[in-house]
Amino acid sequence: MVLEQNVSVPFADLHKQYLSIKPEIDAAIADVIENSAFIRSKHVEKFEDAFARTIGAAHCVSCAHGTDALYIAMVSLGVKPGDEVIVPAMSWISTSETVTQAGGRVVFCDIDPVTYTLDPNCLDEKISSRTVGIIPVHLYGQPADMDPIMATAEKNGLWVLEDCAQAHLAQYKGRTVGTIGNAGTFSFYPGKNLGAMGDAGAIVTNDAALADHMAKFARHGGLRKGEHEIEGINSRMDGLQAAILSVKLRHLPDWTKRRREIAASYCERMADIPGLILPKVLPGRNHVWHLFVVRHEDRDALARKLKAEGVQTNINYPSALPFLAAYEYLGHFPEDFSNAFACQSSILSLPLFPEMSAAQIGRVAGAVEFSCGQPG
Ligand SMILES: *Cc1c(COP(=O)(O)O)cnc(C)c1O
Repeated sequence: MVLEQNVSVPFADLHKQYLSIKPEIDAAIADVIENSAFIRSKHVEKFEDAFARTIGAAHCVSCAHGTDALYIAMVSLGVKPGDEVIVPAMSWISTSETVTQAGGRVVFCDIDPVTYTLDPNCLDEKISSRTVGIIPVHLYGQPADMDPIMATAEKNGLWVLEDCAQAHLAQYKGRTVGTIGNAGTFSFYPGKNLGAMGDAGAIVTNDAALADHMAKFARHGGLRKGEHEIEGINSRMDGLQAAILSVKLRHLPDWTKRRREIAASYCERMADIPGLILPKVLPGRNHVWHLFVVRHEDRDALARKLKAEGVQTNINYPSALPFLAAYEYLGHFPEDFSNAFACQSSILSLPLFPEMSAAQIGRVAGAVEFSCGQPG
């Protein structure tokens, strides 16, 4: 393979994305400023409607970020002190810390070693008389195995909250994630597949009463001025972010298609590299490739060599949740979550973003092949 020399590859390139849609973004921002439509304006309502329609959900409640989306949803689902919520051992800490914020207790469940999402086979032993819900995370953009998760939830009378922060437009057996459980939460953190130019988040649901409670809770307990039916919080998507997201939402299907093409190209070019484990998409799952995560026994050396080749990588995440200092109080051991534990030291995220050039894609594949073939 010919190495495309002198092409460096950043992990992501948000500036390149901005340049590709600059006139639309600039016009949207100018419109918000011209009209001083900074808070809860028509821009926010327009985005909520468009996002609900795109996902195929009846309701969308916007909020400040994906972390609040989880918190607001859990409060509205009725999490009370002592309630247990099951969370996969591999995710970003928002998934678990919001359980605690809402007053609940975190119960970790191991992941499936192929998809890195919650292993439904581990659920039964985690369910107790205090369990109230399950939060599957569609990690890296591949949907979790929702059928057995929903079946277990139904059998035990539990709610299911889908963490879709990394999986905008991903589908499980033809159904868009976020519409399978009781509700789905989204993050529009700038680096996510649909990213704002600051923080933003949303929750989608088909449950009208739940949507109503979530909207009120996020807005000081009432939807109209002077009305406070309950005590809530202040968690809002601002007008600028909503206007920006409305523009980007129109491009999301194309960007997602491009992510799939790049992932397919990576899988083809890196298919026979010794020691490298490529991501695998299971039947019935439509992956949206928020992250392209490979595994290698000597992950740290591979990352170092790629850096020397000008290819930036990331680790998502260096520690599984149960082994973070924040959860030391639970007293977990590596063998309690053996799949998550094995994964934390071997996973490596390669650059994958829709604006990558053909040269950059070739450069990553070539540099990985070169680095894996080198001793030490
Ligand atoms: C990004 C992310 C969140 C949190 O979203 P923010 O908008 O950064 O608060 C939650 N869960 C997962 C899995 C994420 O990747």
